Amino acid sequence: MQYDKNNIFAKIIRGEIPCNKVYEDDICIAFHDISPAAPTHILVLPKGDYISFDDFTENADPKFIAAFFQRIRKVAHIAGVEKNGYRLLCNHGKEASQTVFHFHVHILGGRPLGGLVANDPLNR
Ligand code: AMP
Repeated sequence: MQYDKNNIFAKIIRGEIPCNKVYEDDICIAFHDISPAAPTHILVLPKGDYISFDDFTENADPKFIAAFFQRIRKVAHIAGVEKNGYRLLCNHGKEASQTVFHFHVHILGGRPLGGLVANDPLNR
């Protein structure tokens, strides 16, 4: 799969589509998910053309990868979820139900999150 420069998150990074921004710098942008699954549901995206976790960790510079993961921590602290706990989630590919093909990490928190994939309508 080729990175599509017109995916919705690429447009948000370029400022062509608005978002409810939490944090931004030269490494990443973070904004509230439009369809939150928890009281805190923030997406953190690296600024670079990476399709998914698999692509990012294969192809990004290790220093950039480290900086990006430090940003996730920073955003979790800005959201104030580090004390009570939070979950990081990223979907790679079809069977994980990835829907936007620009790598992003979900930060979920603000309530007890239960089991790993509990209460998911996709569960059978
Ligand atoms: P994933 O299934 O991991 O690819 O997650 C994509 C996420 O992006 C979903 O949780 C959507 O609700 C969220 N999303 C899609 N479009 C937007 C948008 N314009 N602004 C904020 N979140 C969005």
